[in-house]
Amino acid sequence: MPEKKDYYDVLGVPRDASKDDIKKAYRKLALKYHPDKNKSPDAEERFKEISEAYAVLYDDEKRKMYDTHGHSGIDQQYTQEDIFRGVDFSDIFRSMGFDTGGGFGSDDIFSQFFGGGRRGRPMQRQRGSDLRYDIEISLEDVFRGVTTEIQIPRTEVCPTCHGSGAAPGTSPIHCAQCKGTGESRSTRRTAFGIFTQVSVCPRCRGRGTIIEKPCLTCKGAGAIQQTRAIELKIPRGIDEGAQLRLAGEGEAPGKGIPAGDLYVVVHTKPHPAYERRGDDLYRALKVSFPKLALGSTVPLETLHGKESLKIPAGTESDSVVRLKGLGMPHVQRGGYGDLYIEVHGVVPQTLSKRARLLLEELSREIDQP
Ligand SMILES: [Zn+2]
Ligand SMILES: [Zn+2]
Repeated sequence: MPEKKDYYDVLGVPRDASKDDIKKAYRKLALKYHPDKNKSPDAEERFKEISEAYAVLYDDEKRKMYDTHGHSGIDQQYTQEDIFRGVDFSDIFRSMGFDTGGGFGSDDIFSQFFGGGRRGRPMQRQRGSDLRYDIEISLEDVFRGVTTEIQIPRTEVCPTCHGSGAAPGTSPIHCAQCKGTGESRSTRRTAFGIFTQVSVCPRCRGRGTIIEKPCLTCKGAGAIQQTRAIELKIPRGIDEGAQLRLAGEGEAPGKGIPAGDLYVVVHTKPHPAYERRGDDLYRALKVSFPKLALGSTVPLETLHGKESLKIPAGTESDSVVRLKGLGMPHVQRGGYGDLYIEVHGVVPQTLSKRARLLLEELSREIDQP
C-alpha cells in the first residue's frame, strides 16, 4: 500500500484552515473528481481520498487526533467505517446539483465507497475450531508411555444426512436468489458513480442452497454435538504440560469444511515418593543413624525395578546420593536421567533397654557434644 498523503495536502488547505475553508475546498475538488463528471481512471480513487480527508478534517475530534498523532492515530482509533460515521455529505451534494435520492447518511457513503456495508463476517467458515483437552496421568505412565481412551464432546458432520442438512432422500436445492453463489450483489448508480455492493445472500444466508425438508437428526444444521471416544497414545517421558496434536479431531462444523485439530495437554499427577525435575527424579529416604555411620546397602523400589542403594560409611544426614541412569527416559537422545536420593538420618524415638545401654556406651566412646 502506498503511503497515505497528508489530509491537508489532499484538500489543498493550510493546517489552520477553518471548517468553512475545508468545506469549500472539498466541494471544489468533489466537483472536479466526481466519477460522474470525471471519467479518468484514477478519478474514483482520488474522490475517495478527498472524501476521507474531508470526513476527518471537518470533524473536530478526528481533526484533533490527526493533528496530534497523524495517520497512525486515526488508523488506530477509527475503522474505515468510523471515519465516515456522523459526517453528513447531503447538503454538499445537493448544492453540487446531484440528486441525493434518499439522502446521504454516513452509512450510505461508507457502503458505497467500500462495498458490502457491515464487513468482517466471512461468507463461510473456513475451518472447524481447534479443541483443547487436559489429561492427568501417573508418573509411572509417563515413565512407560501409555495408551488410553478419552471422551471428547465435539461437533461432527451429521451421520444421517452426511452434512447436507436435508432429510434422507431429498437434497438441498439451489438458491434461486443468488444462483448458488451465496452472495448478493447489487449495482447502484449514485451520486458517487457506479458502485457494486456485495453482501451475504439473505435468502440462503450465504450457503448457496436451501433446505426444503430438514434432516430430523440435525434439524437441518448438517452437524450434531457428539461425544466421541478417541484413542490417545502418550509417548514415554513426555514433559509436564506438553501438547499432543491430533490432526482433524477438533470440531467438524459441516460438509466440506476441514475439521479443526484436538490438542491434548498432558499433566503428571503428583507422586507420593518422587519429584520430577526434567528427566531426573528426587526422592527422600529415611536411614537410621548407625547405617549412615557404618555404611550400608539399602534395598530400594525404583521405576526401573528393585535396586539397592549403597550408602558409604560416614554419610551425613541430608546428603544426596546419586543413582545414575535410574531416572526418567530421555526422549530425544535415548538413555535415562538420574535418581537422586536425599538421605535423612532418623533418631530412634523409643529405645529398648539394650539399645539404651549401647547408645550410652557409644556416647562415652565418641566423646562429642
Ligand atoms: Zn442431518
Ligand atoms: Zn442465496
